[in-house]
Amino acid sequence: MSTLNKMKLTIEAKSQNESFARSVVAAFFVQINPTLEQVEDVKTAVSEAVTNCIVHAYGGVQEGVIEISCTLDENSLTVEICDFGKGIENVEQAMKPFFTTVSTGERSGMGFTVMQAFCDSVKVTSVKGLTTVQLVKKVA
Ligand code: ATP
Ligand code: MG
Repeated sequence: MSTLNKMKLTIEAKSQNESFARSVVAAFFVQINPTLEQVEDVKTAVSEAVTNCIVHAYGGVQEGVIEISCTLDENSLTVEICDFGKGIENVEQAMKPFFTTVSTGERSGMGFTVMQAFCDSVKVTSVKGLTTVQLVKKVA
């Protein structure tokens, strides 16, 4: 499928940038005429991925860099959310429903499950210093 458009956004890992990031991705996505529901799905998934960078990657200190790259083709949006933080030790385990490394009860361990429910594909790669979450949402 040929690429129609691309964009990259670099933000700091601060809570106030989470809603900014999801709105920017949504505004880019509307170029291929998604339904309102599809836009909401992408916003929800991007929120979860960006929140993970803010909360987990950099230890919640509201510092660090998040890079978001979006690619549009005729029928789909691909979003890559990258951070340069501590990495995920066991990606397979992290993606299981209810798995969380936060023991305070603040987190439900459902972020990746939500991303999977709202997107057509979720791929995660992680080593110390680079975690990438790739989300694909189809419009057709
Ligand atoms: P919830 O999303 O429901 O608030 P959660 O963030 O713990 O809870 P998930 O989003 O499913 O649940 O993530 C599962 C676990 O994967 C996290 O507890 C964390 O240990 C790890 N994780 C997720 N994203 C990252 C990241 N970008 N960097 C480091 N660790 C991460
Ligand atoms: Mg989460």
